[in-house]
Amino acid sequence: MPQFNHLIHGEWVASTSYSPNVNPSDLTDVIGEYAQGGASEVNAAVAAAAAAFPAWSTSGIQARHDVLDKIGNEILARKEELGALLAREEGKTRAEAIGEAARAGQIFKFFAGECLRLAGETLPSVRPGIGIEITREPIGVVGLITPWNFPIAIPAWKIAPALAFGNCVVLKPADLAPASAWALADIIHRSGLPAGVFNLVMGRGSVIGDALVQHPGVAAISFTGSVGVGRRIAQACVESGKKVQLEMGGKNPQVVLDDADLAQAVELSAQSAFYSTGQRCTASSRLIVTEGIYPRFIEALQARMAQIRVGDALAAGTDMGPVVSQAQLEQDLAYVQIGKAEGATLLRGGTRVACHTGAGKQGYFMSPALLVDTHAAMRINREEVFGPVASVLRVKDYDEALAVANDTPFGLAAGIATTSLKHATHFKRHSQAGMVMVNLPTAGVDYHVPFGGRKGSSYGPREQGRYAQEFYTTVKTAYTLA
Ligand code: NAP
Repeated sequence: MPQFNHLIHGEWVASTSYSPNVNPSDLTDVIGEYAQGGASEVNAAVAAAAAAFPAWSTSGIQARHDVLDKIGNEILARKEELGALLAREEGKTRAEAIGEAARAGQIFKFFAGECLRLAGETLPSVRPGIGIEITREPIGVVGLITPWNFPIAIPAWKIAPALAFGNCVVLKPADLAPASAWALADIIHRSGLPAGVFNLVMGRGSVIGDALVQHPGVAAISFTGSVGVGRRIAQACVESGKKVQLEMGGKNPQVVLDDADLAQAVELSAQSAFYSTGQRCTASSRLIVTEGIYPRFIEALQARMAQIRVGDALAAGTDMGPVVSQAQLEQDLAYVQIGKAEGATLLRGGTRVACHTGAGKQGYFMSPALLVDTHAAMRINREEVFGPVASVLRVKDYDEALAVANDTPFGLAAGIATTSLKHATHFKRHSQAGMVMVNLPTAGVDYHVPFGGRKGSSYGPREQGRYAQEFYTTVKTAYTLA
């Protein structure tokens, strides 16, 4: 069985223990043994990053551009292979995974360009004869903690801006899906980046993640994951004075109004609720439907769900891959029961199933679930399930739909399906989410614009696009007497 090691100071470093990375589509398929680190590996990685920082933070922007562009080119050239690996370890379909790998490449190429575009400001002083320059500088060693559901794109959208703006990095990827992060680290390692500028330490979050968050040599933590872990990280960062950025869960609403194009509304609802097995922070898990279209929408959505083939992520014809793990599958199935116990009606799906190819693959396959007769106070409408489970809320009109959409502790993404310019415009203005979609799935975003949410979904500056510089740089104001 191949073993995959940490990357510390430009060297692959073996570990005393390893854990198997198992394919959720086929539990007999082990992708490899991945190193399990501890505090000593974190200490070594932070020391390597700190030692590399003085030279990297003052390196030329052309050199930084070239290395990020090279990384992006290799990812794009190998997107099929990287996508197949991603699908094998995480369970999204091959097509979705290739798309994610390509996205990682595009992100590196975008931030290669951003190296050349880091602008400052000059202003006159209120005092005569003085000039003011406002510049952005790197912050130091940045700890990046990432989840399993986008195991190459999320590391990419943190690593690329961190490096572009002159920081050094220690990445701790999710223990459930380290293969994509390891493959990315291998590409970065061979890109010509100086030793120690980028380091990878793998293992459990409670061990390595915690050691990274507590380390006094780390200047900032960027975290994507669950609300519970994120809040604890924020507390620890505030206590030690670290800059912190959190991207967390969602309970995203998809509003469907009477005047919506029915076929379009059904398609975008099915896409955002169930594709990638519903394991997207931007998935819409609450479908808020007005009375006039409700019966037609429910009938058409069930017909669409009947077409979704569940099975091996790598098999031809699969529309929805497996749930990522046994624990996540149990959580998804439990939430279906919680919804039923609260009074919801399960119209379709919500059970463990066999692979659609009938090839006898043992995986964590679950049929997409549709719950109706739900109301806003139910747990199924307040808590993130993070699986292929959608609940429907029937509402009277647009005003009630907007109120229900905003009635959530989260605020990541929100969508509306309507042909009314008035309602679309009002929804864009009054939705309490960080990202709003009109006649588009809530899941599916661009890489050159800000990504993030409000309320319980996010904390700190936005990720991605030009806005990434808010987190990955610190501002300096310099006064000069002319
Ligand atoms: P998670 O359990 O919170 O884990 C996220 C990362 O934090 C993992 O690398 C994890 O390590 C690590 N971690 C766990 N405990 C830690 C600790 N005490 N200190 C430091 N790090 C620790 O989340 P997940 O299950 O991987 O991902 C699913 C969640 O991510 C969902 O809530 C989803 O909505 C959210 N998400 C949000 C966005 C967004 O941009 N808003 C995007 C994608 C996903 P282990 O692997 O060892 O657990």
